[in-house]
Formats: sequence, structure tokens, C-alpha cells
Amino acid sequence: MLLKGKKALITGSTSGIGLGMAEAMAREGADVVINGLGSQADIDAALARVKAFGTRVAYDGANMLKGDEIAVMIAKAEKDFGGLDILVNNAGIQHVSPIETFPIEKWDAIIAINLTSAFHTIRAAVPGMKSRNHGRIINIASAHSLTASPFKAAYVSAKHGIAGLTKTVALELAEHGVTCNAISPGFVWTPLVEKQIPDLAKSEGISEAEAKKKVLSRQPTRQFVTVDQVAALAVFLATEAAAPITGSNYSIDGGWTAE
Ligand code: NAD
Repeated sequence: MLLKGKKALITGSTSGIGLGMAEAMAREGADVVINGLGSQADIDAALARVKAFGTRVAYDGANMLKGDEIAVMIAKAEKDFGGLDILVNNAGIQHVSPIETFPIEKWDAIIAINLTSAFHTIRAAVPGMKSRNHGRIINIASAHSLTASPFKAAYVSAKHGIAGLTKTVALELAEHGVTCNAISPGFVWTPLVEKQIPDLAKSEGISEAEAKKKVLSRQPTRQFVTVDQVAALAVFLATEAAAPITGSNYSIDGGWTAE
């Protein structure tokens, strides 16, 4: 097992890519704190899936809009699990709209959840990681950390921001055994992508079927990336073999950003 005995916390892991990474890390022997929104039934279902691998699993409901709740979540995980080895910043939301009518509250929420929450988690987790001279910070960015698309002003801005945060944290911690890398998926078929199909159709005046085709037209493989493929890359970046990899931004996008 690649992560036996490691302690991981993954934000936004009640669904999609986060849940897939939580399962993959537990499968490799890690104890995992999951986090995210959802009904009690959703949370119980996510907990059951991650607990299936027999490691210790806990849920923390901290809201990624709130810096104070994030600081409490990290402190609790450090105390209850005996130190965090792996921090994955994954929570994210999307909103698709032309810039001139982009709702201000959506801009604020996307910047807070997709970017500022990672500042808060990293800020709170670094002292413990530094003291143990070991840590793995993985930020789930996006192809939109490297390139842009119309109607996604807040998301593209937040994802470019997290790419910069990744490099800065990597440089600050390079001599402390703590790595910080980003993973930049193209389109992965999860609830986040499913929800933006109707919005894209509306913005562009096309049908939902055409919107789905349009989404995949950006991805040269014409295939959605799978949650398991992203999770496997995250597991690798959390291993000891990945110790010299820091400040990198890994594309897993079917060739999208090669064009
Ligand atoms: P998802 O909607 O399936 O999951 C998002 C998770 O974030 C959920 O667990 C949700 O509860 C959580 N979340 C949302 N707001 C929160 C809040 N205020 N506090 C705590 N948790 C909150 O989405 P996904 O597709 O799995 O996306 C996960 C990450 O991957 C995001 O950062 C997203 O930008 C990124 N990403 C996704 C794709 C894709 O195609 N799906 C592509 C590139 C990057």
C-alpha cells in the first residue's frame, strides 16, 4: 500500500473528484478526513464508500466560505489524527455567465471556495507539516488554470490564482520536506460538469446535447477524463516517490492545453 499510515484531509470530498480521491487514498492505506456539503444521506453514503477500505475515516462539515471554520477543521484533524501528511484542496463550484451580467455574489463565492479556502487550509496546515519535516499539498486546479474560456470569469480567475499559490507555497516549503503541486484536469464527468451544461446551452443559445458536444470539442481525445484517473495522479503525488516534485502543475486533460 502506497500511503499506509498517512493522514489525509480532502476538501469537497462528498462528491465527484474529491470523493474519488478519498476512496483511492483509503484504498492505499491512508486515514482520511472528508469534507463537503450535502444532505445527511449524501454524507453517510460518502463516509460508507471511504470506510469500505478499513482505515480511519472522519467527516468535517467546515464551510469553505469561512476561514474560521477552515482553521478549526485543520486544528481538529491535526489533533484527532495525530498530524496531517496530505492536504488536498479540491472543493470547488462553477457559474457560467457573460461578464456584464455575472452575479457579484457568484464571483465572491467562486473566489472564496475555489481559491481563498486553499489559502486558509494551507496557512493552518503548514506549521504542523513543517514541524514534522513532511507534507504533501495537492491543489485541484483545472485546465482553466492555464487557459481561458468565455463566460467563466470567476472560475478562470480562481484557477489561475491557485496555480500561482501552488508555486509560491512550493518555493516557501522546498527545504522543509513539504511539496505543493497542482493537478489540472480537463473535463471530468462529475456533478459540477453536469450542472453547467444547461447554463452553457442558455448562454450560447444552443441545445443541451450541442453544449455537451461543445464541451468535449475542447478536449482532443473527445473523452471525459475519469474521476479514477485524477485520483491515481493525486495518490502518486502523495507518495514518497514524488518527494522531488514540487511547484508543478500536472495537466490531465486529454490534450486540451497542448493546442
Ligand atoms: P462536485 O460538484 O462533484 O464536488 C464539489 C465538492 O465541493 C462537493 O463535495 C461539494 O460539497 C464541495 N463544496 C462546494 N462548496 C463547498 C463549500 N462551501 N464548503 C465545503 N465544500 C464545498 O465537483 P467536481 O467536478 O468533483 O470538482 C472538484 C474540483 O475539481 C473542483 O475544484 C473543480 O473546479 C475541479 N475540476 C473539475 C473538473 C471537472 O470537469 N469536473 C475539471 C477541472 C477541475
